[in-house]
Amino acid sequence: MLDVLDPRLNWYDAGRRHLWLPGSRTGDSAPPLAVVATHGSRIVLDDESELLDGTAAGWTACHGFNHPHIGMAVARQLERMPHIPLDGVLHEQAAKLAHRLARALPGDLDYVTFAESGSAAVETALKLATQYWAVRGAAARRKFIAFKGACHGETAGAMAVSDPATGSFAHFRKLVPRQFMVRLPVDEESIAAFEQTVARRAHQLAGIIIEPLVQSGGMKFHDAELLRRVRATADRHDLLLIFDECFTGFGRTGSMFACDEAGVVPDIIALSKALTGGTMPLAATVAGKKVFELLLSHEAASAPLHGPFAGSALACAAANASLDLFEHEPRLQQVGEIARRLEEGLAPCRDLPGVREVRVKGAVGVVEFRRLEDPLELRRHFIEAGVFLRPFGNVVCLTPALTIEPYDLSLLVGTVVKVLFESARRRRGRRNSAPDQNDLPL
Ligand SMILES: *Cc1c(COP(=O)(O)O)cnc(C)c1O
Repeated sequence: MLDVLDPRLNWYDAGRRHLWLPGSRTGDSAPPLAVVATHGSRIVLDDESELLDGTAAGWTACHGFNHPHIGMAVARQLERMPHIPLDGVLHEQAAKLAHRLARALPGDLDYVTFAESGSAAVETALKLATQYWAVRGAAARRKFIAFKGACHGETAGAMAVSDPATGSFAHFRKLVPRQFMVRLPVDEESIAAFEQTVARRAHQLAGIIIEPLVQSGGMKFHDAELLRRVRATADRHDLLLIFDECFTGFGRTGSMFACDEAGVVPDIIALSKALTGGTMPLAATVAGKKVFELLLSHEAASAPLHGPFAGSALACAAANASLDLFEHEPRLQQVGEIARRLEEGLAPCRDLPGVREVRVKGAVGVVEFRRLEDPLELRRHFIEAGVFLRPFGNVVCLTPALTIEPYDLSLLVGTVVKVLFESARRRRGRRNSAPDQNDLPL
């Protein structure tokens, strides 16, 4: 038997055929990149070339890769105590983090429970909401209003409140419980439809779940006014309002949390992605007084449990160090500067054929096409040009680290624009050489 350590076999070839990587299926043309290191906003490949990361490691590494302050905090914690489950036990890092999150979040969002992923944090929020109604003697209220275009995670409960069209959830429609999916209340007609569904279903509803300001699935933006309207409707029908800030939390949209900008306090909030600055998996669900005190005082209600690693000392140490950085470094100011440069740099994309909209919100820059014909090919062109980006659906989306250097940001935006224009040119060339083909947009 060949040993993995056999010098004739490198780790890439040895492991790749055994790994089913997320999102991959047979026939995918792009083999995964062999990544050996990271630093700042850069990904180092095994041939020593480097890519500029336009995704902040999947929206997690808000301070860039390998921030020394987080690294040192984790190393210190690793030496002292990597992990002990929070089961009849409390450790300093979890206590500190809960206290700091409660202080950082608005209103009475003061009661924290940890999980290992954003999906699990969403599940916890849904569980808390249904338990809240069970304890109040209305166990029939266990459904949720969710919005078209929403993306709340990959576990069954989270998929149920996500738009099947946005993720790969369509395959699991039969697995997940049915929820009420309505259009975001953006205009007269959709507001009326939203209000009507809530009024008609209130006796079945535990709450409303929404990604505030940005729907991560299609990178669609909405304004604070919409959130105030949803809050008012929830209050009118005595529904719990859940904000999923797994994407928007920790500065991404320009304020520490999207709920800060909106001036709306939800009853429950879910946080993950940038919580540890991209160092380690950790998520938190934070509830307000109304939910927490009722559940805590009730014998039948139990604290949600999400595995022995939820709130690990290492992950909490990383999160505490990440919060230090938000306190001591000008992150939100940096987001403002990134927004300005994204706005300016992406503007030429409005002239590209097939572009529906170019929009920027904080450190989120979006070029939306009517249709992206081949996201994988486009991704390959970005990589060839030295940039790591993952086009999905019909959008090319830039979400750099909030610490990205001005030079790197210019390079990133400039390269993206260049690749998109080249790509459009190539398509036009192909069309002209095959005149009977359909007139396909980029
Ligand atoms: C990523 C994400 C999730 C799921 O988090 P995981 O850690 O991938 O489980 C849920 N909601 C939103 C808005 C997200 O961006």
